[in-house]
Amino acid sequence: MMFSHIDAAPADPILGLTEAFKADKRTDKVNLGVGIYKDETGKTPILESVKLAEQKLVALEETKSYLGIEGVAKYNLAVQTLLFGKESSIISQKRAATAQAPGGTGALRVAAEFLVAQTPNKTIWVSNPTWANHNNIFQTAGLTVKQYSYYDAASHGLDFEAMVADLSSAKAGDVVLLHGCCHNPTGIDLNLEQWQVIGQLCLEKQLLPLFDFAYQGFGVGVEEDAQGIRTIANMVPELLVANSFSKNFGLYNERIGGVTLVAADQQTATKAFSQVKKLIRANYSNPPAHGALVVSTILEDEALTKLWLSELTAMRERIATMRTLFVDTLKAEGVKTDFSFIAEQCGMFSFSGLNKDQVAKLKEEFGVYIVGSGRISVAGMTKENMPVICKAIAQVV
Ligand code: PMP
Repeated sequence: MMFSHIDAAPADPILGLTEAFKADKRTDKVNLGVGIYKDETGKTPILESVKLAEQKLVALEETKSYLGIEGVAKYNLAVQTLLFGKESSIISQKRAATAQAPGGTGALRVAAEFLVAQTPNKTIWVSNPTWANHNNIFQTAGLTVKQYSYYDAASHGLDFEAMVADLSSAKAGDVVLLHGCCHNPTGIDLNLEQWQVIGQLCLEKQLLPLFDFAYQGFGVGVEEDAQGIRTIANMVPELLVANSFSKNFGLYNERIGGVTLVAADQQTATKAFSQVKKLIRANYSNPPAHGALVVSTILEDEALTKLWLSELTAMRERIATMRTLFVDTLKAEGVKTDFSFIAEQCGMFSFSGLNKDQVAKLKEEFGVYIVGSGRISVAGMTKENMPVICKAIAQVV
């Protein structure tokens, strides 16, 4: 007997919270844990652009035969266009190669395995704090994870000096994980000058940037949010990107993302990418088709693209409205702590500064579920649940 000796794994800090939430019998409970967009009625609807694309696909699809290892070719080109821009020389010079992947998580895992197999140091630097699953993915793949400073609790802002100082101590050949936009969990991004400094640092110190890009369009806009990736891609010869369409197309359960490798020239890209394909073949062989076909059907059709962009804008603007309402409602509930910084953060999350005890009290006494780090999913707030949330916070601060 071998299984009886196995210890139970700890619950995932984010998905475990959803399980606890589901088991909670209270009717006024609120789940602000996992990053899922909810509309003003508290639902996570399928985008209209996605529905229309799916109708088109059902009518036109002729086969369920396997895709190639790298997935749908026109999808992979659409990914590169979103990442680097239509006119990018990286695309025209064929310096990039993309493999469709099962979600951003699958893309990160493929990238991590590639780094373990093909790069010398096998060390990756992640921001402190970062999305909890980063450590999990990278360590499981066999990378050593180090942290660079990022968040300054006192100012609720970025400690850029400390970030640069930490990354300056990285060794040539180390990998740096960067959040393309809408940093999870802090909601604090680099500005253009800061991206340039990090690009220069990567260039001089020969660090390899790996971008995690899960929220394109949730910050300022689809093009604007790619500023960090495009700035650094224009400065360094090589990089990796793991992107996800879970949030911006609302395709959470279709598991659709991509891993993109950029090399100094086409020949190097093709050779290095063959190793990515080898890893995929040994992992899940080839990706599922539906999500990629939905995304590429939308992006190759002007009217559907326009509709998707308007739906994405509506999601982004609703979250921004909730940020302001959150700050205002806390004030109205008599909370003296200054939470105005929440309105400055971007993306789905707000890094509230609430501590572990306060988070535990919110859950146990008020049925308000947020992640232990104090990360709140603003995308789960509605006009209806806002008073419940803010009254509870007023009781714990
Ligand atoms: N990176 C970050 C920063 C994320 O927040 C997420 C989703 N929570 C992902 C990657 C993975 O997304 P997916 O659901 O597509 O695997």
